[in-house]
Amino acid sequence: MKNKLSLKDDISSVKGVGPARAKALSALGIETIEDLIGFYPYKYKDKRHPVRPSEAEAGRDVLMTGELVHKQARRISGGRTVIEASFACEGGGFNAAFFNMAFLQKTLSIGTSYAVFGRAYARNGKVTFTNPEICREGSPGDVRGLIPVYHASKGISSNEIARLTRLVLDEAVSMPDWIDESIAAERRICTPEMAARGMHYPDDARAYKIARYRVIYEKLLLHQIFVELSRKELSAGGQSASLGDIGGLEYDSFARGLSFELTADQLAAIEDIRADLASERPMNRLIQGDVGSGKTAVAEAAIVMCIGAGYQAAYMAPTELLARQHAARLEADYRALGIEVGLLTSNTSSRERRRIMEMLADGELMCVVGTHSLIQDDVSFARLGLVITDEQHRFGVNQRKRLAQKGSCVNICVMSATPIPRTLANTVYGDMDFSIIRQKPGNRPPVITRAVDSGSSGRAYVAIGRELEKGHRAYVVAPSIDSQDEDLSSATGLYEKLRKLYGEYSVGLLHGRLDKAEKEAVMQRFARGELQVLASTVVIEVGIDVPEATVMVIENAERFGLSQLHQLRGRVGRSDVQSYCYLINHSRNETARERIRLMTMHNDGFVLSEEDYRLRGPGDITGTMQHGAPGSDVTELFAYTDILEAASQDAKVMVETAGSERLEELELRSGRINHSDNSNII
Ligand code: ADP
Ligand code: MG
Repeated sequence: MKNKLSLKDDISSVKGVGPARAKALSALGIETIEDLIGFYPYKYKDKRHPVRPSEAEAGRDVLMTGELVHKQARRISGGRTVIEASFACEGGGFNAAFFNMAFLQKTLSIGTSYAVFGRAYARNGKVTFTNPEICREGSPGDVRGLIPVYHASKGISSNEIARLTRLVLDEAVSMPDWIDESIAAERRICTPEMAARGMHYPDDARAYKIARYRVIYEKLLLHQIFVELSRKELSAGGQSASLGDIGGLEYDSFARGLSFELTADQLAAIEDIRADLASERPMNRLIQGDVGSGKTAVAEAAIVMCIGAGYQAAYMAPTELLARQHAARLEADYRALGIEVGLLTSNTSSRERRRIMEMLADGELMCVVGTHSLIQDDVSFARLGLVITDEQHRFGVNQRKRLAQKGSCVNICVMSATPIPRTLANTVYGDMDFSIIRQKPGNRPPVITRAVDSGSSGRAYVAIGRELEKGHRAYVVAPSIDSQDEDLSSATGLYEKLRKLYGEYSVGLLHGRLDKAEKEAVMQRFARGELQVLASTVVIEVGIDVPEATVMVIENAERFGLSQLHQLRGRVGRSDVQSYCYLINHSRNETARERIRLMTMHNDGFVLSEEDYRLRGPGDITGTMQHGAPGSDVTELFAYTDILEAASQDAKVMVETAGSERLEELELRSGRINHSDNSNII
């Protein structure tokens, strides 16, 4: 008897997956059967039934069938050949042009019926296709249904991935449901199998919607369990977290030493922190501030107050580069105060590491900045009083916990640049206290944002040329690494294009398949100005500060969420020079257009997030079938307010009623969702 596959099995246990395929899949982040099942298509080809010419909407992909009535080969420039074909069908006929497919001249036969799929255009009053997919009607290639399209890569095509998911789903892998049975029943959440089938091979829009509901609910539930677990752990913490006398002196001289005046919002956040530090309850505060709102200065003030009271402070950043950037800033701002700043990352020499660790252990060093290296077991503190983490979504709960456990009763402050409407904040973050920084410091001109249709994208590239001539730098962002889909720009494709366009400048390429060191090296070179143009996926460092970058072009802007677009745009506009952002829309979808328009109207992340929620409306989960799976960024899903509300209630129940073994399982599952270092490979 054949053994059933199980979710944890290695992908190479699937029939037909040898070492080469396994490697290609691994590059897409797929190591196990579970990963493959969770690798959802980003769109579907609607090949359910052929349409008549009168039903074909220009610019949309459609399936048509018809009898070949005419074909002709023509030579065109560059020694290329085009085959022009005409088909007759019910309600009229249609045309197709095939470039560089001379073999079709032989294989296409007059009088035979073909199925043709591709983008329909109107030309001379007739529906016309350019290089569509074509096969004999009724032949094995003529599959009908909603056909999934996956982010493929050089090593493995979308079709091959589709074949594998089908194989795995047909093998009836056992998929136990981890959600509490009573909750799943009450909420009418479909089974994991139904969700998997509905995401990969939906029978119809309804099956897709039911599946998508589970996927969204599941992600939100995991996030809420994460919040619930952290809340529980913090409230179980010790009593006297009060740092006592905060020591106003250090803080005053720090504030006086700054080269700018703190804004009212920064001051209010600092006051909130001061009150937390002085109180008996451990601080658990989220500082929400848009990109560029000056959160670092608030963190610096918090650290100074903590040190003033005689406690050590640790500042944890998600990447090496950010850690270094923070350390440099702190060093400069603390020099006059005589506070030494240690830097601990995986690149710190072992000698320096030993020195810093000794000084932390005996309380000689009061302030340390670092990456994950800070939470390694051998790092210990004499009197740790404050942990600040930057960009919380990059850290798992376990990592924060490990750092906090290094002190007896540590105050925690999280800096987040993801604006969330106030009405949602309590649901999303449980019991965390908030400070919000709305005001932007300085008199930086807001980024000028333009929406551009893909047909006129040239404008954006002209603008880049103009900025480069002024000695500025440019980012160009695409949603995929190396897609072969003409609808989907890729960082690799853009890299080639940019190198041709801006020959005299140096162009860099950044994406998630580079290893960590390579990524950092590219970013560093861009920051230093050795590269002037960067083609990238969304991996561009959150929080990275390259003031010379004054223009950003985002291709396929319709594929990004508003909060993501806003985050990306925050990479420019970091000096008093005017910056520009061009959002290139490749779709005709009205909602996409409206969302992009919002970006051109608002520069305030909070306003944007509120507008976004208004636009989407609660509970609209259908999305469009063109848009496949919900993105990897859970914050995008907060817009589904009623699902969020349900998930939040359910998470409380699940955590409350869980036994210790179950708790451990929930911890593991929910911690995983936020290790986005691995989970978001784009
Ligand atoms: P973010 O909130 O995105 O982390 P940063 O802390 O990196 O923002 O600050 C962005 C920039 O604004 C930095 O160059 C910082 O020096 C500057 N800045 C911060 N606060 C002020 C202020 N009150 N006035 C003028 N410039 C400020
Ligand atoms: Mg920051």
